[in-house]
Amino acid sequence: MTRTLGCILALGVLAVAAMLVSPAVAADKIAVLIIDGQNNHGWAKTTPPIKEMLEKSGKFTVDVLTSPPKGAPKDAWAKFKPDFTKYQVVFSNYNGEPWPGDVNVAFEKFMAGGGGVVVYHAANNSFVKWDAWSKMCGLLWQGAANGDRITVDDSGKVVRTPKGEGIGAGHGPQWAYECIVRDKVHPITKGLPEKLMHVKDELYQGQRGPAENMHILVTAFAKKEMGGSGTNEPMVFTVTYGKGRVFVNLLGHDEKSTVADPTCAILMLRGTEWAATGKVTIPVPANLAADAAAAAK
Ligand code: ZN
Repeated sequence: MTRTLGCILALGVLAVAAMLVSPAVAADKIAVLIIDGQNNHGWAKTTPPIKEMLEKSGKFTVDVLTSPPKGAPKDAWAKFKPDFTKYQVVFSNYNGEPWPGDVNVAFEKFMAGGGGVVVYHAANNSFVKWDAWSKMCGLLWQGAANGDRITVDDSGKVVRTPKGEGIGAGHGPQWAYECIVRDKVHPITKGLPEKLMHVKDELYQGQRGPAENMHILVTAFAKKEMGGSGTNEPMVFTVTYGKGRVFVNLLGHDEKSTVADPTCAILMLRGTEWAATGKVTIPVPANLAADAAAAAK
């Protein structure tokens, strides 16, 4: 009797312990949904290493949702039904046809209610006619007539150029350039060296959009010799949308300039965590500036 009771008690203790441990472990990780499937960039080559990098940090669980290919029939799109409520952050590696209207509505609701999104490189080329997406991105790849332009002058002041004035979206040939951290206290960039080299990559310039509730974290100087605008272009920034957080990272044309580049990699990791939670716990690697300089040689 005593032994039986002891067994029951022991099992009970184990069951309670299991209940306490299992959900806590899952709850510790941030649920990420990467969306890809259409892009004028090699999404099939960039999504797997990005997923691996996020998972290896120990902070994230990552699902990937691949859209129907370009020109797919409506039935194929009818099966494209991301359940955004299961995730804390959506990572867009998508630049293609519009999503179905009900998906857009669900995504807007997710973001307005406090969700997060990472807009990665050419993801800001997409959906230029979707108002809410334009507001989330702040700046998009489009012509000068379609929105304001934001740059940073040599004194660090943010300059707004009205729509219709100045250059539209573009980039020169790829080169290895320096990134300048413009905010030393924001959770994403706190503790980062002020100057970080970035490997050979495109330097987006002349991006256009509503640029509201936007906060610049990192710029790069687009030198004229490299087909650039001759000013500091915003490369990494945040936007708030309702209660939601947007992390825009225009770096990373291909797999070599994303995960394999120390600068882009750490910004991506910390930006994804911030977009999900508003906080950053992922540490800055000790030799980041030296590693970034070596990678860019
Ligand atoms: Zn590109």
